[in-house]
Amino acid sequence: MRRTEPQDKLPDVGTTIFTLMSSLASTHGAINLSQGFPDFPAPPELCAALAHHGTAGNNQYAPMAGLMRLRVEICAHLARYRAVSCDPEHEVTVVPGATEGLFCAIMASVGKDDEVIVLDPSYDSYDPAITLAGARAVHVPLQTDTFTPDWERIEAAVTPRTRMIIINSPHNPTGSVLHAQDITRLEHLAERHDLLVVSDEVYEHLVFDAHTHHSVLQSPALRARSFAVFSFGKTYSVTGWKTGYCVAPPALTQALRKVHQFVCFVAVTPVQHAIADFMAAQPQYPASLAAFYQGKRDTFCTALRHSRFRITPSAGTYFQLLDYSDICDTADTELAEQWTRDHRVASIPISVFYQQPPTQRYLRFCFAKSDALLEEAAEILCAI
Ligand code: GLN
Repeated sequence: MRRTEPQDKLPDVGTTIFTLMSSLASTHGAINLSQGFPDFPAPPELCAALAHHGTAGNNQYAPMAGLMRLRVEICAHLARYRAVSCDPEHEVTVVPGATEGLFCAIMASVGKDDEVIVLDPSYDSYDPAITLAGARAVHVPLQTDTFTPDWERIEAAVTPRTRMIIINSPHNPTGSVLHAQDITRLEHLAERHDLLVVSDEVYEHLVFDAHTHHSVLQSPALRARSFAVFSFGKTYSVTGWKTGYCVAPPALTQALRKVHQFVCFVAVTPVQHAIADFMAAQPQYPASLAAFYQGKRDTFCTALRHSRFRITPSAGTYFQLLDYSDICDTADTELAEQWTRDHRVASIPISVFYQQPPTQRYLRFCFAKSDALLEEAAEILCAI
């Protein structure tokens, strides 16, 4: 190998499915229900706050762990929504996107000879982060019908090398949520095998019907061994602002910050100020999201009621899986491309989130879109 050739540490990884499908949607002028992002504006007061802080000169480095005023707002948010108290100094780190928080948590905690359990279908950034840390991802599938964890199967996958488990609820891409009994099972598992937990809770406020979000922060047993990762991108409809936060006990926070300071060092300053302003002014805002997105889910599912898809309404996130097994037997990766090209509706094939893709036939559609666009997309999908 020539010295100028980069060393490929991720030989099995290509361009992400989100980049591929959004780009294909744009090439074909398709309705883009693939990559998850809202097509409606962020709250105007939030955008005005960003403009204000940019022009007011708040444009230099923030403290490495994040602006203290934002960390204080995050603690107020956690007290309000999860009834937990956190120390902004030693337990909360503002990160430039949940992706970076997840990466740093993994990088800080696992290495050579360690195994990390991930539950398939799993969000695409977990496995590469584990591989880059030098550890091995052990993929355990969620139950095929409910997309909830099979705790017996997870327990059977634990070895003396298992160091961490990554969970994600509400779950991308399936829209399932963890129930109280899952948290109890996780507590037992983590304590019995002394595991660290990374809990990806970026869709914490997008939970529908009779479901509630169960944060690992609400369980004293889990809280002592977890990194809980959140994203302002989802909660405030600003995915492009790439800002989130990680909550972990002091020793884990210290380890995370050690890595974070050399990956990005800090998150963007005026964005942090703007979010702190907005959280202080409208602390009740996140509480409006569940009804808002449930309405969008219902608009989309209702508009599809005469289609040939089998539909189980999503319990959380802004994604809806559609089972197309009554329509055709084409592989989901091929079908997503085909429909983007031929029907001009783009979606995400979910087999790419599995180590061993199952035989089920699902595509994921993002419903964080205007009702008019959802109805237009549904009309096209009904005709297939
Ligand atoms: N999380 C978003 C989704 O699931 C995509 C983020 C990204 O493009 N990396 O669609």
